[in-house]
Amino acid sequence: MAGIAANLEHVRNRIRRACVAAGRPADGVRMLAVSKTFDASAIRAAHAAGQRDFGENYQQEALAKQAQLADADLVWHFIGPIQSNKTRGIAQAFHWVHSVDRLKIAQRLSDQRPPQLAPLQVCVEVNVSGEASKSGCTPDQAAALCRAVAGLPRLRLRGLMAIPAPDADARAAFRRLRELFESIQDQGLTLDTLSAGMSDDLEAAIAEGSTIVRVGTAIFGRRETRA
Ligand SMILES: *Cc1c(COP(=O)(O)O)cnc(C)c1O
Repeated sequence: MAGIAANLEHVRNRIRRACVAAGRPADGVRMLAVSKTFDASAIRAAHAAGQRDFGENYQQEALAKQAQLADADLVWHFIGPIQSNKTRGIAQAFHWVHSVDRLKIAQRLSDQRPPQLAPLQVCVEVNVSGEASKSGCTPDQAAALCRAVAGLPRLRLRGLMAIPAPDADARAAFRRLRELFESIQDQGLTLDTLSAGMSDDLEAAIAEGSTIVRVGTAIFGRRETRA
């Protein structure tokens, strides 16, 4: 657990250096600690070291950890693929969702967001590498989906998210995401968030304008199971 605080510091330094290299203010990039497969004690260790935003991929796993951490003031981001039978738990327990890739999911999240909570903060996930197997809408669908999200009462559109294919040129993929982001802004939609960059490619993402990096392995270590 002592390793988690040191790892966090190391990643914060990487982010600061990448911001300097890109000529961007260091506070322009927010970091999510991606805690999937790690237990509540790892999250507590990161929180004790000053980390507040956490990303989770699996609804059931996340809800169990959230129950154990109910006393802590954490911000929860859902970043995994969403099946429609999981939207209610996500709408009830998360502050952000980064992985909305179709209208049906957006509608369900809005319908199921409890009225006493603030609107759910939403990024539309875009498949910028064009693989058939990956989640995310196509770049061509992104503007229409953003417009639909912006029109739903219990959602607040924040921006775009992408995960480049492992074998892709990450910098080029992040550049395509940024260009899409700018073209959607030009169409009059308000977007302030580019959710891009993970442990291995956060520098390339920050160079292309990322405002949220999602970092797992570099903070918590290698995952033993699942993705
Ligand atoms: C697992 C995951 C991450 C973290 O990846 P690392 O390479 O461990 O930093 C980030 N984003 C998403 C969507 C993920 O599923």
